Amino acid sequence: MVVRVGVNGYGTIGKRVAHAIQLQDDMDLVGIVKRTPDYAALQAYKAGIPIYAPGEEEAKAFEERGIPVKGLLDDLLDSIDVVVDATPGGVGAKYKPIYEKHGLKQVYQGGEKPGVAEVSFSTLCNYEEALGKNSVRVVSCNTTGLLRLICTLDKAFGVSSVRAVIVRRAADPKEVKRGPVNAIVLNPPRLPSHHGEDVKTVLPRLDIVTAAVVVPTTLMHVHAVTLRLRQPVTSSDVVEALEKAPRIMVVNAEATGIKSTAELMEAAREIRRRSDIPELVVFEDSITARGSEVMLFQAVHQESIVVPENIDAIRAVSLLASSAEETISLTDASLGIGQPLW
Ligand code: NAD
Repeated sequence: MVVRVGVNGYGTIGKRVAHAIQLQDDMDLVGIVKRTPDYAALQAYKAGIPIYAPGEEEAKAFEERGIPVKGLLDDLLDSIDVVVDATPGGVGAKYKPIYEKHGLKQVYQGGEKPGVAEVSFSTLCNYEEALGKNSVRVVSCNTTGLLRLICTLDKAFGVSSVRAVIVRRAADPKEVKRGPVNAIVLNPPRLPSHHGEDVKTVLPRLDIVTAAVVVPTTLMHVHAVTLRLRQPVTSSDVVEALEKAPRIMVVNAEATGIKSTAELMEAAREIRRRSDIPELVVFEDSITARGSEVMLFQAVHQESIVVPENIDAIRAVSLLASSAEETISLTDASLGIGQPLW
């Protein structure tokens, strides 16, 4: 069975998810919805991706720039089974009634409030909960990173509590209007940050508290995480569990010389499309076990970490794969996830 998919919003996440859909044998990218006839629209057009405009006015602007549109949003929604909403946070909720009117399965992003969908989703934690649902929300990049770690260690040893400090990138590389330029911003000043609560939308019973700061970089987020496990472990036990897990890349800083997000991205630029690193990167050297307490540093490439989860979410709502293992093997093989960076 091939599921027909449309992507509404063609920015950082939308363009990556659209490309990933094109790489799946069980999905057909019917089109994308784009508001502005800019360079990204031209690239999509030249790549043969059918473009739809949100309304008549936008369609006219596209035609004036010489970029043909295939139709309007409603036309796209009439010809698909699943819509991936990748519009800015909060905009997806406004589209929800329109998607429902067209009887579509819906996949939303982490910028939406949890109530937008029946399930908040992270493949390694709760794939089965999303099977056959009408609407799923793929949690944010930071939450996806935390959940991959937590659910992997929970399966191996049991996790009883998590404390994390999140060092957030200020903006995506393409965003010229955001900052900070020269500050470390408390995000927010009052603790905890919202990230722990977002993790709980997937793992409601977990004891987790997070704090966050925003720093002047566009490359990646970094987390300092402390987990209390349900049994004593050694750091080698933790390394072994993480190395066996899908979508986690264990990097040895001493051996590779990679001690920063800048060096990680530089390595990815050599061999990855768009220099994407959809894997969660855990720094092996930082993994420190004391009894049942484990501390480590991990890095999250915000632009790409949620892309495989979006593909899995499409499979879950469409019943294309009945287990997390099945969708992970299809998604990861098609996207080259797990291939070494060097
Ligand atoms: P973005 O601003 O890069 O892209 C959004 C796109 O939607 C833009 O192309 C914009 O023109 C378009 N758009 C705006 N209003 C629209 C409308 N009414 N109809 C159709 N298109 C419209 O945003 P993004 O970073 O891709 O974020 C999208 C979602 O993904 C948000 O919920 C965000 O929180 C989430 N997310 C972002 C990141 C990240 O780091 N960028 C990571 C994980 C999740």
